[in-house]
Amino acid sequence: MIPAKAYAVHSPTEKLAPWNFERREVGADDVMIEILYCGVCHSDIHQVRSEWFPGIYPMVPGHEIVGRIVKVGSNVSKFKEGELAGIGCMVDSCQECGNCKKGYEQFCEVGKTVFTYNGFEKDGKTPTYGGYSNKIVTDQNFVLHVSDKLPLEGVAPLLCAGITTYSPLRKWKIGKGHKVAVLGLGGLGHMAVKFAVSFGAEVTVLSTSPGKEADALKLGAHKFCNTKDAAQVKQYNSYLILLSIPLLLSTITICI
Ligand SMILES: [Zn+2]
Ligand SMILES: [Zn+2]
Repeated sequence: MIPAKAYAVHSPTEKLAPWNFERREVGADDVMIEILYCGVCHSDIHQVRSEWFPGIYPMVPGHEIVGRIVKVGSNVSKFKEGELAGIGCMVDSCQECGNCKKGYEQFCEVGKTVFTYNGFEKDGKTPTYGGYSNKIVTDQNFVLHVSDKLPLEGVAPLLCAGITTYSPLRKWKIGKGHKVAVLGLGGLGHMAVKFAVSFGAEVTVLSTSPGKEADALKLGAHKFCNTKDAAQVKQYNSYLILLSIPLLLSTITICI
């Protein structure tokens, strides 16, 4: 086993504290990453506090991981030592069912999706530990290449907040001529605005906070609708609204 250091919580009411633990040895299909940055996603806070379901403790949160590959297994062909890499919210799945083969591992048909932390490996009993740690050992198929031209601290949030908003926009082939409404200008919403604008869409931010209008426009949004103002809401009745469920990377689109 490989010694590792982390920030962990030991119960839903405790604060994060330094914790020593062990990662598995690097298997034939694994890479080991020295973690350089990890984003803090609000779902980390929910899970630390067992607000969604009873957590698995000790818990090492973190699923927006960027780092450098320091070791590769004998079967690893996608990565070399020294390269930059990222990991999001999943670290394994059955990798054999129809959905896994199509790249929809979050919908693994035999329920073997392995989340980066607060879950169990495919054996159903070994806990997974996330990115608030100094190293991680993961199957190469759940690791992404990261360009060395990018500021890494800014890359980390793309692994969850970024992909969660990028995914539906690409799935529905959003571009020039489309109108997109983004519900809420938070960690995900502001990325949705930037992506949709960069794809050429006309973007409207729907928000209950009129104070966010200036930021929305600064990020490139074309319009802003204060959803507490009935008269303003009336003007917008035919937009595609993107809603996102970050943890599952699944997205729902609703036409109104
Ligand atoms: Zn997240
Ligand atoms: Zn599967």
